[in-house]
Amino acid sequence: MSIIDGKMIAAQVKEQLRQEADSLKERGITPGLAVVLVGDDPASAIYVRNKEKACEELGLYAEKYTFPEDTSQEQLLELIDELNENPAIHGILVQLPLPEQIDEQAVIRAIHPEKDVDCFHPFNVGRVMIGNSTVKPCTPEGIIHLLEACGIEIDGKECVVVGRSNIVGKPMAMLLLHHNATVTICHSHTENLAEVCRRADILICAVGKAGLITEEMVKPGAVVVDVGMNRREDGKLCGDVDFQQVKEKASYITPVPGGVGPMTIVMLMKNTIEAAKAQLTQQEKKWIFSGNSGLSG
Ligand code: NDP
Repeated sequence: MSIIDGKMIAAQVKEQLRQEADSLKERGITPGLAVVLVGDDPASAIYVRNKEKACEELGLYAEKYTFPEDTSQEQLLELIDELNENPAIHGILVQLPLPEQIDEQAVIRAIHPEKDVDCFHPFNVGRVMIGNSTVKPCTPEGIIHLLEACGIEIDGKECVVVGRSNIVGKPMAMLLLHHNATVTICHSHTENLAEVCRRADILICAVGKAGLITEEMVKPGAVVVDVGMNRREDGKLCGDVDFQQVKEKASYITPVPGGVGPMTIVMLMKNTIEAAKAQLTQQEKKWIFSGNSGLSG
């Protein structure tokens, strides 16, 4: 059994991205990300801080906007409009969840699709479905990278995704399908979850329930990817998979923490760089991608 080292793989991708960001900066383009935090949810504050830190490490430009819990939808939409028009900002990330007086979908729809680095806008969701998106949903795309980095074949494999959220489960299934896997999606109404999971060559769990996936639910030699992030009573983080048991049966397994999480942030950085490249004018593209910039259009 091998433990997939998400931290190490993320560091390698980060290094490639740093070089790409440097090449862009040498030509006067600094990819810029605006991160918007509303309210005082402590977990959201940590996620936002980590995203800012990742921008700093890669030399990307970051702007952080913090709003109080009682912010109105109009105030937030006003900021989004300004950021949509701001040429220094290539990506806009509004940290979810938002307070209940704000309609999340309205906010997501207000972000210009070219600046939607989370890939949540319906336009980009549609492009993911068709298979021609510039940006990809961060967590699912991070998982594809992890599998590829470990040389795990996806083509033709039986993949089971547990969880059908718009953020993880559904786009995960779609990306696996584009990689020619045979995909089953499970959710809270699935009958015989254990039986379905046991069919998986690659089992991906994104539910948010500690200990949901036990050893009897895993086929010997399966690859197990744990997206879940749960807080144990002692305050420590754990996933959805019973790691100690399942690691004895799996061929590969991601730990929590240190598996999928680090890749999600790196994919956000990748999307910001891709968004910056996509937003160059035709003239800038001609100038930057001709010659020996080392960049690919
Ligand atoms: P959601 O709560 O939006 O979705 C959870 C899904 O799990 C739903 O589809 C739900 O089914 C399904 N589910 C709930 N109970 C069961 C069950 N007993 N059996 C089978 N399926 C079940 O969560 P997210 O997708 O946003 O996140 C999932 C987990 O991943 C969370 O722990 C989250 O913190 C973590 N996460 C981690 C990230 C990372 O970078 N590591 C990034 C994003 C999320 P139904 O639709 O029927 O209700």
